[in-house]
Amino acid sequence: MSNRPVVDDADDLAIDEIVEALMRVDASIAKLEAERARLLGRAFAIATARTAHSPAAVQERELALRSVAAEIGAALRWHDRTAQRRLSEAASLVDDFPATVEALAEARITARHAEVVREIGACLVDEPSRQEYERQVLTRAERDTVAGTRAFARAVVDELQPRSIDERHDEAAQRRRVWVEDEADGIAQLGVLDSATKIRAMFDRLTRQARAVRQVAHLADDEGGVDDTRSIDQTRADLLCDLVLGSRPVVDPTQAHLPGGLGAIRAEVTVVIPVLTAVGESDRAAMLDGCTPVDADTARELMAEAPGWERLLTDPVTGVALAIDRYRPTSAMRRFVRIRDVHCRFPGCRQPARRCEIDHNLDHAKGGATHLCNLACLCKRHHVLKTETAWTAEQQPDGSIVWTSALGRRTTDPPERRVAFAPDPNPPPF
Ligand SMILES: [Zn+2]
Repeated sequence: MSNRPVVDDADDLAIDEIVEALMRVDASIAKLEAERARLLGRAFAIATARTAHSPAAVQERELALRSVAAEIGAALRWHDRTAQRRLSEAASLVDDFPATVEALAEARITARHAEVVREIGACLVDEPSRQEYERQVLTRAERDTVAGTRAFARAVVDELQPRSIDERHDEAAQRRRVWVEDEADGIAQLGVLDSATKIRAMFDRLTRQARAVRQVAHLADDEGGVDDTRSIDQTRADLLCDLVLGSRPVVDPTQAHLPGGLGAIRAEVTVVIPVLTAVGESDRAAMLDGCTPVDADTARELMAEAPGWERLLTDPVTGVALAIDRYRPTSAMRRFVRIRDVHCRFPGCRQPARRCEIDHNLDHAKGGATHLCNLACLCKRHHVLKTETAWTAEQQPDGSIVWTSALGRRTTDPPERRVAFAPDPNPPPF
């Protein structure tokens, strides 16, 4: 007997049919997700088993896994780091939570429910507790939302968890980190993950400081009041930027080794400014680290304050003829390659060029020239991948790099812009 409601209104009927269709689509997706998890799990097992008995096991296993991740990533347009993470997550799902994969394959739960089961249950190391956890949480997942299932899963883990909250907190705190995410319009987000007490304390201090600033702003002119129309959110953000960019860390192990200690280290960003913007004749955006637009005012402000500028202009010049047959690229070549490449040239990688190494696409040892057409920026991770595994790169005359994977699959990474950069023979007057 169907549990579909009895409806006679035409619109209701249409909606009812859409709901039924959505349920069918969801069920198909769930089945396919289970299939994908199983495929990724198998790839992970093959990549790690291949080197399991080798003497340099840990390092080689990691490289074998990276090579397979890069192979899958290039084919599916995933960053290879993302591919590697998905491989290990799939392996853990398939190996540790087989009943969950089964439930997904039968469309009793969605992929996001399965993700919750794996993520929260990952801390249960002994098999009987894990199975008990999986049984309880799956029953719940079949009838609850993802959020409801997550809360329930946490409670079940707490009960089955043989370890104390202290131990778990210490382990969770190992994941502390800071990250950056770009948004549109020249804005970016800075995220911090750390112990809840520290993060709450940071927020509280910023709030108190921001309130103090506002109190001063509200004083009358003759009492030393200042004109400040910033909101409390804006003031907190400004204070945090000042604190990070201007202050010295309390704990500084470099004091004895580094003149001025950590406090002497200044932030460094690469901003490429169109020449007309620089001289104030245009408001075309500049580019920060090759991926984020910067508004013209900010760019000019940065120019005025910067201790030095590389006068590299973004004028299109065809046929760059700069060949020096030496192994070490000159500093001008390095600067040129960094500005041209903007970021690491492995497909999908956005690691800024200034944090990259300059690679000879065709190894110098194999006759590769120290020539601009054979040099490219690669981040540490992808430089190692290219040097230590079967991946190869070949630069084309237009600056694109053709990557050939370990299995012979080809991916082309075009240069960031369709122009060549060259030092200007007549530098502008600034
Ligand atoms: Zn890279």
